[in-house]
Amino acid sequence: MPRLAPGDRLLVATHNPGKLAEFEALLEPRGIRVIGAGELGLSAPAETGETFLENARLKALAAARASGLPALADDSGLEVRGLDGAPGLATADWAGPERDFARAMRRVREELVARFGSIEAADRRAAFVAALCLAWPDGEVECAEGRVEGEIAPEPRGERGFGYDPLFVPEGESRTFGEMLAAEKEALSHRAKAMAALLARCFPPIGPETAGEG
Ligand code: IMP
Repeated sequence: MPRLAPGDRLLVATHNPGKLAEFEALLEPRGIRVIGAGELGLSAPAETGETFLENARLKALAAARASGLPALADDSGLEVRGLDGAPGLATADWAGPERDFARAMRRVREELVARFGSIEAADRRAAFVAALCLAWPDGEVECAEGRVEGEIAPEPRGERGFGYDPLFVPEGESRTFGEMLAAEKEALSHRAKAMAALLARCFPPIGPETAGEG
């Protein structure tokens, strides 16, 4: 049953400004008023889950219970084939406590070179994955996942986006996410795909093309 409507306030349980900006772009056109976790001074719970989905669920529930608002949480990361899916759940950790993503991207490259001898010889196939959960203060939770396939660029390129964006070339493209405009990334991204699936379940249909659907 749809539980979000235009004019509702939604807490986005993240302290990552890059993620927050993407959620604002995805939700504000639907009339949802986005509030960041930082605005309410909420702290992040320990990410003790063993999957992206478990972590997104625990972050969303903790934020909804602490704030009394519906809360959306994202747990996401980069999976590199040639590294057996690493960094995976450790994607943020590879940037160290100071969240230095130049360092994190260097580590991806160094680990590929260590395994394959050179970046050219490496299996650079990769995917960004995102699990999103939307929790209500009464404990109800809806979740969805999104994935975008692509490959690791030989060198980081571009200044846009956040995190590992300069290192990731989505399938069918020659530019990295770091070289794309926000709207271009949104048309392809793991987060936008997961959000579309979640909105389809939690938001009343809009527009003449959906009128009459029940
Ligand atoms: P989380 O905050 O534990 O979910 O960590 C997610 C990690 O994946 C962070 O290090 C992000 O920088 C990285 N990440 C997730 N989504 C993206 C993206 O769309 N672009 C670049 N990096 C991302």
